[in-house]
Amino acid sequence: IKKIGVLTSGGDSPGMNAAIRAVVRAALSKGIEVYGVRDGYLGLHQDRIEKLERHSVSDVINRGGTFLGSARFPAFKEESVRREAIENLKKHGIDALVVIGGDGSYMGAKKLTEMGYPCIGLPGTIDNDIAGTSFTIGFDTALNVVMEAIDRLRDTSTSHKRISIVEVMGRHCGDLAMHAAVAGGAEFVVVPEKGFNKADLIAQIDNGIAKGKRHAMVTICEHVTDVNALAKEIEAHTGLETRATILGHIQRGGSPTARDRILASRMGAYAVELLMEGHGGRCVGIMKNQLVHHDIIDCIENMKRPFDEEMFKLSDTLF
Ligand code: ATP
Repeated sequence: IKKIGVLTSGGDSPGMNAAIRAVVRAALSKGIEVYGVRDGYLGLHQDRIEKLERHSVSDVINRGGTFLGSARFPAFKEESVRREAIENLKKHGIDALVVIGGDGSYMGAKKLTEMGYPCIGLPGTIDNDIAGTSFTIGFDTALNVVMEAIDRLRDTSTSHKRISIVEVMGRHCGDLAMHAAVAGGAEFVVVPEKGFNKADLIAQIDNGIAKGKRHAMVTICEHVTDVNALAKEIEAHTGLETRATILGHIQRGGSPTARDRILASRMGAYAVELLMEGHGGRCVGIMKNQLVHHDIIDCIENMKRPFDEEMFKLSDTLF
């Protein structure tokens, strides 16, 4: 293997830069050239591909986002578009592609692999919703952002005896909400995996008020319900001021935590190692603090992320 490409795709996540840097530096140390693709699969299709040098990734390990840029490019679902993308890679003599992104990006990498072009997937998303890995690059940073937001809301909620609802990202995966609830000491957590029972939530809040709690903190995943309407209902029922805060894209930004930088660095270097060993069509994960790799097709078609029951119950136990 002489030349590899790297791109970031889908929603950006803090630590993507550290992953690109690791791919570049690990490859160069083995005499492999690296080509960066701008704006994910869109730039791949438009042939916006440039050679990366050692200094191309200087001063990026500490920066959130992705300096290569990312994009949503639904047309990549069409085989003819992917074929043109593969032609672009071949034109530059690039032997394999490292794709850093979430489940949609993995799907693109899987399809390229099925068409005979070897890809390695690295899990880059704040949602922590990828099968075959305990943690994704960006999750820890986002978690710390949410925890800090909960801490701040707690100060003001306690002072005013107010109920706070915090809406966090994770459309299909409650990990961010559950971990943030435990880290921030939020009493109630609503995640898509468990469904939403409004009557149960209100009963639990009543229970907390009866115990004499001075605030109530609810973490809830996006798309579960309209949090502003929920706040109004809870306020009408309890008579306590209730506010909803939607954290939104704040959760995606910021300098990556040490944990994310290290995870990204390990995974990026591992991707290069796998390609040197002749592995293509793999996705990288971390399990029990060991780097692992799986067949990317099998991972997408057959592997499921287990739901973390223990974490879900913990915030309830500590109520
Ligand atoms: P996040 O979960 O953080 O938003 P993601 O990688 O899941 O990230 P998506 O927008 O779902 O984000 O996917 C990113 C890109 O991957 C898409 O815009 C598209 O170019 C490509 N992609 C997604 N699904 C497919 C598919 N079924 N076939 C080919 N390419 C796909």
